[in-house]
Amino acid sequence: MSQYLIVGAGIYGATYARELALAGHQVQVIEKANHLAGHIYTEEIEGIQVHTFGAHIFHTSDDEVWEYVNQFADFNHYINSPIANYKGEIYNLPFNMNTFNKLWGVITPDEALAKINEQRGQVTGEPKNLEEQAIALVGQDVYEKLIKGYTEKQWGKSATELPAFIIRRLPLRFTYDNNYFNDPHQGIPVGGYTQIVEKMLDHPNIQVQLNTDFFNKKDAYLRDFDRIIYTGQIDQFFDFELGMLEYRSLRFETEVLNIANYQGNAVVNYTDRETPYTRIIEHKHFEFGQQEKTVITREYSKEWETGDEPYYPVNDELNNRLYEEYVALAKDFPKVHFGGRLGQYKYYNMDQVIRSALDAVREELA
Ligand code: UDP
Repeated sequence: MSQYLIVGAGIYGATYARELALAGHQVQVIEKANHLAGHIYTEEIEGIQVHTFGAHIFHTSDDEVWEYVNQFADFNHYINSPIANYKGEIYNLPFNMNTFNKLWGVITPDEALAKINEQRGQVTGEPKNLEEQAIALVGQDVYEKLIKGYTEKQWGKSATELPAFIIRRLPLRFTYDNNYFNDPHQGIPVGGYTQIVEKMLDHPNIQVQLNTDFFNKKDAYLRDFDRIIYTGQIDQFFDFELGMLEYRSLRFETEVLNIANYQGNAVVNYTDRETPYTRIIEHKHFEFGQQEKTVITREYSKEWETGDEPYYPVNDELNNRLYEEYVALAKDFPKVHFGGRLGQYKYYNMDQVIRSALDAVREELA
């Protein structure tokens, strides 16, 4: 039996903690925030579950992960079908026959494909950046109206400087299907996400301390625990000694409105460059809420600076290289395992976080 310290009560830390506790280990979880669940935290306002740190829609093709989260919540049948608002024109996402029909008046998949082929341009070989990747995938019009502005706002960089893989998250289909995700399992936990982490950590072998910053007692923790699972920023662990990794941060403006229905959809993306926010979330629609009021959140993307919450790793070549240098430093700390979006500097979705935590903790326990 070992003494484990888990740094961070997000979904990676919680999964790891739970599996260790079930295997009979003592686990101490410390979390610098005053709440559990990290960025999947939700809180109730006006009877509505508000996604405080940005919209989280659970989706996965991993059957085991789906069963795993279903132990801790009932998932509803929400299907993510975001709407794009480009200068007042409304399009369906992801890019599908509804989008192409609205853009060009095309009716059949063949007509849509012909239009896209006409617009794919001269990009040959492996696309070198996001702009080339986007145009090669969907052509100029979709790129200009639905990708360029949104992407450049979200990442604060020109699309020609961004890695192509970001856009591969977005499906393209030639059916009239507005489901954003291709995964067979999808839904929103009824009653919010916070309860999932609460239930995961509810075990006699797990002690949780909120408002506790690892860096206030780093040396003591490293000395006193047999093993540390660290889910914070990997560069911060090393006091940024090789330089800072780049992250994107977000700023949220949340408002309670005295109307029942503000935008008719949970997610509306503002894909032009001029609107300062990237999207507006109307939280009640994640749970088909019938409350008299509504809660909306405008989401603004910003560069991460010290003190901001880091939400997205910026996985371009430069940053990935720096990350690898930190991984090399981590070899001198065999006691410490780095996990999760921040610990591994990876643009993980929730299901991927759970999968990687389950794999790692099983290896640990084997
Ligand atoms: N994207 C876009 N237009 C949209 C939505 C997404 O161009 O209306 C692109 C953009 O490059 C973005 C990426 O797809 O960075 C991933 O978007 P997603 O909404 O999946 O990101 P997340 O929900 O993780 O913030």
